[in-house]
Amino acid sequence: MSDSESSKESKKYVHNCTKCGSCCEKWSEVPIFIEDLQKWIADGTIHHVLPFLQIQETPPAYVRLILKKPAAGEEDPNPSGCPLYDYSNKICNIYSSMPLHCASYPLAYNGEKFYLVDRDSPGLGNGTMTAETLESAREIARNQFDAVSSSSAILPLLYTMIISSIMKKSQEAMASLSDEDQQQLEELLSKSKDDQETEDETDSQEEWEDITAVEEDTEKEE
Ligand code: SF4
Repeated sequence: MSDSESSKESKKYVHNCTKCGSCCEKWSEVPIFIEDLQKWIADGTIHHVLPFLQIQETPPAYVRLILKKPAAGEEDPNPSGCPLYDYSNKICNIYSSMPLHCASYPLAYNGEKFYLVDRDSPGLGNGTMTAETLESAREIARNQFDAVSSSSAILPLLYTMIISSIMKKSQEAMASLSDEDQQQLEELLSKSKDDQETEDETDSQEEWEDITAVEEDTEKEE
């Protein structure tokens, strides 16, 4: 990008968070990069984040880390949105150490130029930005671009290594069992599989009975 393009873009981009919470309330999944983990391990934030970190597999080989609520219970008044968003006080619970994805929003960088990921962000055009705050925003967007590349290269490799290690350990544990213990384990596994199949059959039978009952009721009404 030429200097003239840079200055043109710098005049256009003004963003200051209005703390309306709209992005935190709508993002049910927040992408996390290796760089986020490094920062959180260094500053101790990792303890707040760990309960909500999940590995997401996207076949055939893409693996990514996300922040996501565990399956929301019926009693959860805010089943969607980021797990780290404090709805009562309208603030991020890790505001000073928020993920790159959030710190960069709504500015992004694609290796050649900067662009907006959300033209409707309420913070766009809000207030003013100094040259320093603008450069800081662009630096974060560049860091996020680098983080996407490094994490998409490293995470699948790490994941494969961990899964292989777990499989190897379970194979070794199986091999170290006596023939009798192995047989007992196989029986247990087989029983648990049978129980699951019986449960599934009972569920479908109950569903079928429900459908039949509804049909009979409908016929009576007619
Ligand atoms: S991590 Fe913080 S800033 Fe990012 S979506 Fe969640 S609550 Fe919002």
